[in-house]
Amino acid sequence: MRLIMLGPPGAGKGTQAKFISDYYQIPQISTGEILRTAIRNESSLGKKVANLVSNGGLVPDDIMNQLVLERIAESDCKKGFLLDGFPRTVAQAESLQKVIPLDYVLDIEVPDNELLERLTGRRIHQPSGRIYHLTHKPPLKPGIDDITQEPLIQRDDDKTETVLHRIRVYHQQTEPLKNYYQKLSQENGQPCYIKIEGTGTVDAIKQRIFSALNKRNYSHEANQ
Ligand code: AMP
Repeated sequence: MRLIMLGPPGAGKGTQAKFISDYYQIPQISTGEILRTAIRNESSLGKKVANLVSNGGLVPDDIMNQLVLERIAESDCKKGFLLDGFPRTVAQAESLQKVIPLDYVLDIEVPDNELLERLTGRRIHQPSGRIYHLTHKPPLKPGIDDITQEPLIQRDDDKTETVLHRIRVYHQQTEPLKNYYQKLSQENGQPCYIKIEGTGTVDAIKQRIFSALNKRNYSHEANQ
């Protein structure tokens, strides 16, 4: 089961990726998370990419390709993997395609105005990764994590100007991947390209994803 999640920033890729990787028992590889951890740890990769990430730009393809190709060569990816946030450019998709064929591309679609509202209202408890939203999932006490009582933060790249930039970057650099994978799917029958409407509750989107995967006969049992 090799799968990628496409979709704009704020589409809920990370949230849904977790359900899928739990169900299919495959690692969830989130390039955004890998980069944010590197930045927090001030590793050499982290230092190289910190400014780009906080400004909402894309990290150069050669850095991303190397990072992801090394990661998917690890032994836990033998049974499959789920990529969340990669590829983001046609060049990244081509380099992945050269190394390994994919089974599914899940493309989550959400209108821009909703993305803006979702991302700018997002607040994070950094140590645990717990995510809140000012209106959709507010903490019990404003600005405070429910469990540890520690302060919540807003990611630099969730500030309004940066979110607008990330959405623009998505349309320019990542949206062409829709055509890339649709064409591949039509010509080779693989990967299977599935469009998912990404509005509504987390649970409703999850149901859409699982019913789309099941319809294509990809059940966990079939994979055993
Ligand atoms: P995300 O959490 O997936 O929205 O990623 C956060 C940021 O990490 C992005 O805005 C980019 O700066 C960087 N990033 C993550 N994945 C990639 C990628 N595949 N290519 C280039 N930059 C990336």
